[in-house]
Amino acid sequence: MNTSTCPVCEATVSIPADAMQNELIACADCGSELEIISLSPLTLDVAPDVEEDWGE
Ligand SMILES: [Zn+2]
Repeated sequence: MNTSTCPVCEATVSIPADAMQNELIACADCGSELEIISLSPLTLDVAPDVEEDWGE
């Protein structure tokens, strides 16, 4: 289990060991959707507030 810091509220966010780059996780503290920008170093950013657009 890794941890990083929520860019919104600066709470500590737990990152599952099997998390993938670009995976979305929710901050348990403020509920913001966060995107794992990078795993090494572990970097989080606020997920864009749009639906995933697969294909087309
Ligand atoms: Zn947060």
